[in-house]
Amino acid sequence: MMRDFSDDHSALALNTATLGHNVEGQGAGWSPEQVIDTCCELGLGGVVFWRREIGGAAVRIGDYARRSGLTVAGLCRTPFLVGPSAPQPRQKMLDDFEASIDMAAGLGAGVLTIVTGGVEPGTKGMGESLKRVAETVAEMAPLADRRGVRLALEPLHPVYGGDRSCLVTVRDAVDLCEAIGHPAVGIAVDVYHVWWDTSLAGQLARAGGQRILGYHLCDWLAETRDVLLDRGMMGDGVADLKSIRSAVEQAGYDGLCEVEIFSANDWWKKPPRDVLQTCIERFRSVC
Ligand code: ZN
Repeated sequence: MMRDFSDDHSALALNTATLGHNVEGQGAGWSPEQVIDTCCELGLGGVVFWRREIGGAAVRIGDYARRSGLTVAGLCRTPFLVGPSAPQPRQKMLDDFEASIDMAAGLGAGVLTIVTGGVEPGTKGMGESLKRVAETVAEMAPLADRRGVRLALEPLHPVYGGDRSCLVTVRDAVDLCEAIGHPAVGIAVDVYHVWWDTSLAGQLARAGGQRILGYHLCDWLAETRDVLLDRGMMGDGVADLKSIRSAVEQAGYDGLCEVEIFSANDWWKKPPRDVLQTCIERFRSVC
């Protein structure tokens, strides 16, 4: 039995990427407070920020959200742990990982997203890189746990396999969770990255509700022009949104649904309030 959102969008959360905030020079440039005020006014249940928006103000912004009655559902994200863009040397990556945990804790965000990074230089394929991801996450999980933050491994679409994410399937994400074996480690499920996967429902069932730490909404446009910055609004693409949510909820997830649309040439060009109204309408009708 799926939750009925047809006249209730209190389970909708805004990932501020949807308003273009996390890329320099994009979006309306709203402050975090302005985002929080507008989400509250429009009846959303939560918000997810990016680190560059928060800077040194995590505690202040977290308090502001709580006083406003809005849940800070998560923070994006750790540094890349492996791959060509991971901070070097490794200690620098670990320090930045810890800083991201601190920021999430300061905000009161229960979940910190991990984008793993791509294939480790000097290696080929995913195997060695995934092994190193498991080692690093296992090393940091107790620290995150002590600060009340859970770590969500987010598999990305395989098109990002080389440089952004050696983790490309929910199956591999659940394998990592099992290898790490720490209760503070789970997965994030993003429609954009998993919609094509015909084994999704079975893998989500394997993950179980306790390990699903986030569900991210958007759509895959049939004629995607840019795999990074041309995500679709829910209902405009080819993802079977109701089936995916059904599988996520069947697995035991009952948390917020986070709209996350990177769309440099379309939605980021529209007034944020209109974008949010459309998100609400689509959430109620097609998600
Ligand atoms: Zn996502």
